[in-house]
Formats: sequence, structure tokens, C-alpha cells
Amino acid sequence: MGGEERKPSCPRCGLPIERLVSKKVFGRVYIYAYHRGGRQCYLGPEGEYVLVSKLQPFTLYPIHDADRLVDYAFGFLESITHESQKLTKEQIKQVIEYLRETLEKLEEELKRREGG
Ligand SMILES: [Zn+2]
Repeated sequence: MGGEERKPSCPRCGLPIERLVSKKVFGRVYIYAYHRGGRQCYLGPEGEYVLVSKLQPFTLYPIHDADRLVDYAFGFLESITHESQKLTKEQIKQVIEYLRETLEKLEEELKRREGG
């Protein structure tokens, strides 16, 4: 109907943001906005999320902090569930596949720890 999805605009260049990506470089995490066509903009180091939080339905946390990583995962999963009507069938399949792989890895890790 509206055609354009309400994607957040990049604070750097104003283009719609396809996704936010965090990159770890020499132990520090930096946030990048990815745009259609592969263009990317550097948004800032982790921790300065007042800006970034406004762009996402979930809050982006520093991913090296274990507790926050869990919070981040919950927030992400919640938003995926909440926004699932907006996803295409193909995207839903991708998410399911990724979650399945993640689940397998986590169960393996748990088995390894419990098995000694
Ligand atoms: Zn940009």
C-alpha cells in the first residue's frame, strides 16, 4: 500500500538503514549502518546507543558483555516475533534456519559443559 517500509534513516547520510551491524576491531565494538547497494556508514563506538536505540525496535547492546548479550538476544527475538507479519516467507525461513543452527550450537555447548 504505502510501498515504502518505515525504515529508520541514517543519521550520517539520511538513506534508509537496512540493518545495523556491530564489528569488533581490536577488542572494541563499532556500529555500522548498512544501506541498499552495500554502502555502509560508521555510526560510532558501542556505548553511544542513545542515537542507535532510536533506530531500532530493540536496543543494541555492547555484545562483549555476557549479560547484555543475553538481554540483546531476548530483545531481538521478541522483536522478530512481534514484527513477524512484516517479514517475507523467505526471511522467515532464513530466521528459522539461523535459529535452528544457533540452538544446535548452544545445545552442543551445554552438553560439553555438563558432560565434563
Ligand atoms: Zn548512511
